[in-house]
Amino acid sequence: MLEKQTSTEKYEVAIVGGGASGSALLYTLFAYTNISKIILLEKYNEVGQVNSHAKNNSQTLHVGDIETNYSIEKVRQVKPAAMMVKYYTDTLPEPERKKIITKVQKMILAVGEKEVSDLESRYDSLRDIFPELEKINSDEIAKREPAIMQGRSAGESVLALCNEDGYAVNFGALAQSFLDKAQSDTERVSVRLGTKVIQVAKDPQGGYILTTDKGVVQAEVVIFDTDAYSLGFAKSLGYGQEYSLIPIAGTFYFTRQILNGKVYTMQEPKLPFAAVHGDPDVNVPDKTRWGPTARFLPVLESYKFSTMKDYFSSAGLGKLRTWGSFLRILLEPVRFFYLLKNILYEIPFVGKYFFVKTIQKIAPQVRAKDLHIAKGFGGMRLQRVDIHKNELQLGEGKIMGENIIFNMTPSPGASVCLYNAMRDAEEIMKFFGGKYFFEKEKMSRDLAHQEKPLECMDVSLKQSYSS
Ligand SMILES: Cc1cc2nc3c(=O)[nH]c(=O)nc-3n(C[C@H](O)[C@H](O)[C@H](O)COP(=O)(O)OP(=O)(O)OC[C@H]3O[C@@H](n4cnc5c(N)ncnc54)[C@H](O)[C@@H]3O)c2cc1C
Repeated sequence: MLEKQTSTEKYEVAIVGGGASGSALLYTLFAYTNISKIILLEKYNEVGQVNSHAKNNSQTLHVGDIETNYSIEKVRQVKPAAMMVKYYTDTLPEPERKKIITKVQKMILAVGEKEVSDLESRYDSLRDIFPELEKINSDEIAKREPAIMQGRSAGESVLALCNEDGYAVNFGALAQSFLDKAQSDTERVSVRLGTKVIQVAKDPQGGYILTTDKGVVQAEVVIFDTDAYSLGFAKSLGYGQEYSLIPIAGTFYFTRQILNGKVYTMQEPKLPFAAVHGDPDVNVPDKTRWGPTARFLPVLESYKFSTMKDYFSSAGLGKLRTWGSFLRILLEPVRFFYLLKNILYEIPFVGKYFFVKTIQKIAPQVRAKDLHIAKGFGGMRLQRVDIHKNELQLGEGKIMGENIIFNMTPSPGASVCLYNAMRDAEEIMKFFGGKYFFEKEKMSRDLAHQEKPLECMDVSLKQSYSS
């Protein structure tokens, strides 16, 4: 529901951005704190319309069992963090739950001697974290995902880890669910949809002034949950000058339904976001979605070329150091040839003849003529670069300021949205210096109760935590 805004309004906490991250934080502050005036500002007329939209991501609840780019330490952190989403949905009535989460079989597939041996040893480290994870050979793979074995040469080694208890999530619907719950308390919670924050400035009286296209909002504490946009806002206040963004657009192809569940392939360590996978789409029955591809596209939102200026203003391209870092990172041969290949995938009509080769690693009998571009699907994965260290920083990032937090949330930001909200709620309490309380233990009990008490459940803010 849109509320009319007139003069400056004052809030204790303002959250900018209504994707999975911002909505999860709104829900957390509403349900587990006594903060009495919270506002969420979202530029679109609905929440979950950008990267959290079901069309724009792969809809996987990333718990770490099939993500071979995660270290085992990271898996131990990510699993309970991501499972909070599953446990949240357990609390919902069935019709609502079914719109958000679906149980789906997941597999990580190794092809060739080297990958098979890597996956064998990874399995040994994962078994205690995922007792339900099965190591399966070609015969068993053929039973669960026949397309993987059909047409494959007999001598090729394959191995898979299979988890029957995987989940596909419509993260946009999840954001809406958080919002609906929080909006039940109109005394404490205000929501301004269709309201774009244009500028953030320090208020000389304390806190911040947010200038929006519908008026001005004053808040003691501000959290930017605007994914890649957060960096531009941080820089406007003098934070995060060491960062730039490499903009990677991810698009998808469809075929008729070929797979029964999600099948991921082994990640290349230097390109940990690149390995192709095939997934059912929660909103498109009887098809398999393949991808994502990765191409360099200087925008902050897919299919919105007007956001190119936002990219240029956040990325600090005026600095020579930024270009030096980009060149060092992108000219690394594995990355360079990968991006080059991905340019081929995007060529109209012929792109699919190149792309089909990557899909054939999973399903050898798929042909280019079976593929069609998933029009309107795909999102932006803005990869952070530390231009002082010439380092590509994968996973989420957080810039902490004085009474302000800027969250940058590439994959799997959506999976760990509740965990991130929990950490931010803890920080917000520190900003207020004891004026409010946060029922962190209750949140842990409610949303992580079935998990073993893994290290990660101590949410005392590991700022460097990335997933
Ligand atoms: C191809 C691809 C595949 C992915 N697959 C997965 C996956 O399988 N599993 C997973 O967990 N993650 C996946 N991700 C990552 C996931 O999509 C993101 O981590 C997640 O959606 C980030 O959520 P968010 O709320 O932080 O950002 P968003 O959902 O992008 O929300 C940011 C919000 O901020 C709003 N906003 C921006 N600027 C302003 C402003 N000035 N004023 C007001 N509002 C503003 C936007 O409108 C938007 O609603 C994938 C991403 C891509 C691109």
